[in-house]
Amino acid sequence: MTAEDDVHVWEPAKLSELRRLAKKWYSENGRDLPWRNTSDPYEIWVSEIMLQQTQVATVIPFYHRFLRSFPNVGALASASLDEIYSHWAGLGYYRRARQLHQAAQQVQTKHAGVFPTDYKSVSELPGVGRYTAGAVLSFSSDQRFPIVEANTQRLYARLLRLMQETSSKTAQLHLWSFAERVLPSRSGSGNLNQAFMEMGSQVCVPKNPLCLICPVKTLCPTFASGLQATIPAPKRPKEYTDLREVALVIRDSKGRMLMRRCTSEERWAGLWDFPRFDVTECKSAGSQTRAVAEQFQARFGQKLIVGPKIHELKHSVTRYRISLNAYEAEIDSVADCTLETSFETKWVIASNKLELALNASGQKLWLWICKVCD
Ligand code: SF4
Repeated sequence: MTAEDDVHVWEPAKLSELRRLAKKWYSENGRDLPWRNTSDPYEIWVSEIMLQQTQVATVIPFYHRFLRSFPNVGALASASLDEIYSHWAGLGYYRRARQLHQAAQQVQTKHAGVFPTDYKSVSELPGVGRYTAGAVLSFSSDQRFPIVEANTQRLYARLLRLMQETSSKTAQLHLWSFAERVLPSRSGSGNLNQAFMEMGSQVCVPKNPLCLICPVKTLCPTFASGLQATIPAPKRPKEYTDLREVALVIRDSKGRMLMRRCTSEERWAGLWDFPRFDVTECKSAGSQTRAVAEQFQARFGQKLIVGPKIHELKHSVTRYRISLNAYEAEIDSVADCTLETSFETKWVIASNKLELALNASGQKLWLWICKVCD
């Protein structure tokens, strides 16, 4: 065993004291958030999916609007993906919306429209991992399931004086094991999970944690050893793969732009985008435009004349760092706007009022075009 593997050992009496202090602090300091006033697993699930990668303050109005339009799992399952996307616009990470829709349909077909309350069924829903399943079940029906998300992970890492990077396999084992042990053996798991999440978000914050007002400072080994700035250990920098892509701005005789919907196999499945092509292998601008014209003809059944480059964007998606060049282009026989393609396409007037759910870089390019056309 290395020094890194050595984590703080919590005796049962200390764990019990930790629970008591956390619960007391939460009863006096917990924020009144809309999803904390319901025990409906559907509503809690929606909130949990929205809260992935999005801040509480941003989520609240979206959550209310979403539940007004889709008050139950049946309403969500029978809505079109476009309707759901229109409620999601502004939250980003549309994959979550798509998975909510798929999961609602799964609940309809496999569970007769009743949101399941057993761990296996909940964890089999698209987009639901160990954390989300535990959160939904412990918050909605006080089932004894541990949770580890960003806030509890940081808090537990400090309560364990965990020196390893939290994403490592052994660190995750320590964290989930502690999250499980810290729960009371009978009732109160949901409340305690909420209490620890809240402490992580409001007190045991990433930089300069508020140790002096922390309700559990007398029990915290990280505070005792002054290691708050070191724990959790900084993450290893992400390794990126660089890609070069071309987006085409193609207008018809009425000035409308050609947009196409990404297929379910593509990166932004279900979202709209400009016709886009990977040109990572092309070394020169000339070879890029030739490759794009060839790929366009193969995919859209029309000859293309590629014009000047008009804009450039850099963005990242998961582990890809993408340099996106936008070119103006014309379809050779523009009078005939019929495209022989398996993609769903639309000709759309450039306007600030976006009527399509676009991926983030497509949206940036769209807004840039609207601005320069103004
Ligand atoms: Fe976090 Fe400081 Fe509280 Fe320890 S004492 S749990 S480091 S805020």
